[in-house]
Amino acid sequence: MPYRTYYDLWRGQNQEDEIVEEMGEEEEDMQKLDEKLKQFEEDELTTYGSSENTPIDDDIPKATRKRNIVFDEERFEETFLKCMICREVYDEDEKAPKMLPCHHTFCLDCLNQMFRVEGEYRQSLTSAFRSMPMAVKICCPTCRDGLICSDQDIKRLPNDTTILELLNYIKLTGKSDVQYCSKHKMQPLNFFCEPCITPVCCDCTVLDHKEKNGHIVMNVEEALKKYTPVLDETITEMDKSIKTVEEKKQALEKAAENIEQIQKELAVQVRQTFDRIRDAIDERERELFNMSEHEIDKKRNEIGDQLAIVHDRESLLAKDRNNLKSAKDTKDISAMFTHHQSAREALGRKVEIPGPSRATKDFAVSFQFNSRAENNIRSTISVFGDVSFK
Ligand SMILES: [Zn+2]
Ligand SMILES: [Zn+2]
Ligand SMILES: [Zn+2]
Ligand SMILES: [Zn+2]
Repeated sequence: MPYRTYYDLWRGQNQEDEIVEEMGEEEEDMQKLDEKLKQFEEDELTTYGSSENTPIDDDIPKATRKRNIVFDEERFEETFLKCMICREVYDEDEKAPKMLPCHHTFCLDCLNQMFRVEGEYRQSLTSAFRSMPMAVKICCPTCRDGLICSDQDIKRLPNDTTILELLNYIKLTGKSDVQYCSKHKMQPLNFFCEPCITPVCCDCTVLDHKEKNGHIVMNVEEALKKYTPVLDETITEMDKSIKTVEEKKQALEKAAENIEQIQKELAVQVRQTFDRIRDAIDERERELFNMSEHEIDKKRNEIGDQLAIVHDRESLLAKDRNNLKSAKDTKDISAMFTHHQSAREALGRKVEIPGPSRATKDFAVSFQFNSRAENNIRSTISVFGDVSFK
């Protein structure tokens, strides 16, 4: 084989023998079909052979060229697939094509009808009460050959298998739309050139896709048969890939959902941890605040006490002084001496007047803390906690 074909790329070269063998069988089938169609062609139906005006290689014997016959399906049906009596298309049931011993074929329905008519005619010749005869003689409408038979005999007549095959052939091939060669007029694309990976017509096979030039042409049905498993395999592979991708997609979607949940949970954890630390800091802050309040209160009371003593002394001195001054101004001798006496006593009394002592004047409380401890806290906080990804 001069070309590696598309199929070979997929399958390797080891199946060449099998392919050749299958093509041989196909050749035989084509010959049989050709014979069947020969009669049809001779009935002057529309036929298109290899175009006469197309130059075809002379080295190919005319007998081996395959013809492509394009025909009118209705006329084909009329000629081969309809009962000559009732003009209805044969089927595999009531209208089964039954072959008489003379080899003429009619549908089962019509033969039964002939049997009935003949039986009733026989009956009418005798008594009206006689039952239908078991067997009667019917005559072939084509050649007038007689056949004595019962209704069961008619049912047992052999089917015309050629007609059934043709029915089947039309059913299978007649449905698909025929595609024609764009280069050769009215030539259906019945072949497939493997190295070119293209459908070709009969004329193509002897012009542009000659086997001697390395082209490998096969019947289109054969190509379909050959490539269907390849396509099926690819479809199976695609299905597998799609399934894998689908699984991955689902996993990713699930992961996307999870990540949202993880983010929420993480935020809660971080918030709770720092809330605890903030609580500890707040508590310590309150402690220090309370501590200072207590000391300040003590000092405030101390100052208050001293102020009270000073006030008392002040008012006592003022009272004695005013009494003495008033007695002197009024020249009341008696009162003058009395008040002078008490004023001297007041002045002479040793009263500890608390001045702005060092304890009060310079009283200062400072917030003291270990600056190294603050730095430690800061550096501890700056690396506190971690988020690890697995
Ligand atoms: Zn019929
Ligand atoms: Zn006959
Ligand atoms: Zn062509
Ligand atoms: Zn080719």
